[in-house]
Amino acid sequence: MKKRVAILGATGSIGTQALDVIKAQPDAFEVEVLTAHSNADLLIQQAIEFQPNAVVITKDELYETVREALASHPIKVYAGMNAVNSVVEMDSIDIVLTAMVGYAGLESTIKAIEAGKSIALANKETLVVAGQLITQLAREKGVNIYPVDSEHSAIFQCLAGEFHNPIEKIILTASGGPFRGKDRNFLQTVTKAQALKHPNWDMGAKITIDSASLMNKGLEVMEAKWLFGLKNEQIEVVVHPQSIVHSLVQFEDGSLKAQLGLPDMKLPIQYALHYPNRLKSDFPRFSFLDYPTLTFEQPDLETFRNLALAYSAMEKGGNAPCVLNAANEVAVAAYLRDEIGFLAMSDLISDCLAKVAYIATPSLSDLVHTDQETRRMAQELVNG
Ligand code: NDP
Ligand code: MG
Repeated sequence: MKKRVAILGATGSIGTQALDVIKAQPDAFEVEVLTAHSNADLLIQQAIEFQPNAVVITKDELYETVREALASHPIKVYAGMNAVNSVVEMDSIDIVLTAMVGYAGLESTIKAIEAGKSIALANKETLVVAGQLITQLAREKGVNIYPVDSEHSAIFQCLAGEFHNPIEKIILTASGGPFRGKDRNFLQTVTKAQALKHPNWDMGAKITIDSASLMNKGLEVMEAKWLFGLKNEQIEVVVHPQSIVHSLVQFEDGSLKAQLGLPDMKLPIQYALHYPNRLKSDFPRFSFLDYPTLTFEQPDLETFRNLALAYSAMEKGGNAPCVLNAANEVAVAAYLRDEIGFLAMSDLISDCLAKVAYIATPSLSDLVHTDQETRRMAQELVNG
């Protein structure tokens, strides 16, 4: 039986790599749904190639373009976010890959879990914002959430066969990004072109900036907390510039297991979509002789304040991670428009964390409100 896959955010870095995986494994997978936001041309091209049951373009004004281009194909075409929220419920879908970027993926992830669909989760921001609600809902619905993020996939792979053994701690590896070893004076003047050049991974713009600021690792610490049911103090971060050891788990007997490989998202994507079975692949193989030195160092929390801010939002809990995420999304977008400097991103996030009203046990509507309120405040701070 082929697995029928819905890809939310098919036109992005994860979405296109997922389609490469599916194309290489035609006996294992079939594309059921594709969604995109603004890249109508690529969505049309993907739809013609993969012949899904339905596509959704979330920018309403692009609906006619997509509909006309696919008129001669037996493919349903919808527009808008509400359409994404309903297509994820289709009976014919086995697994939903959440590869949208940011908070925008929250509602559709919840709808997919409510409909009982397995989730291959790339969209880490949803777990940062609403990890408690999402994981509780998944437990109630008996839905499995398979991690796509390389670090979390590494931990999940280390846990295979060990799910009954308690975890002592996990160690998330971080590349350190393009500015590893630099000081705040240097960061004061870094351009977005420099920040967008990640040493090891080729990813979407938002996560690439998050990697340069170490916010990505802060988001991943919270993602790990919810995916693996960990206490805050069980999660450590170590900088590993070669990005070969993708993360580690330490068990109660002291044994440490790691998963290694070249930095290539296709492997974790394929593992999440086809769990528990591994599929034979021709992904490039790692050789120790090409990497005779693997190194590890402490993250620099004073220079990269975003990681410290993420830790403090996680400690505070409640709606604080939602505030952190919304402020960060506004800050990154402003940085990418050259409206604020690199270090101003942390100032803006820190201001929002201090000012937005704290809610200890937020409902979904509290989180929606917190997100809106924080975005408004953050945008005011950007505008000065
Ligand atoms: P991209 O920016 O490359 O792609 C984002 C996708 O989401 C695109 O298909 C885009 O559509 C769509 N999208 C953007 N904005 C909206 C919106 N407002 N509403 C609906 N859809 C939207 O991102 P990535 O693929 O890099 O990342 C996706 C997620 O995966 C993120 O949460 C990221 O943190 C996570 N992730 C990514 C990794 C990577 O290697 N790239 C690694 C680990 C996790 P369009 O292009 O048509 O506008
Ligand atoms: Mg990662």
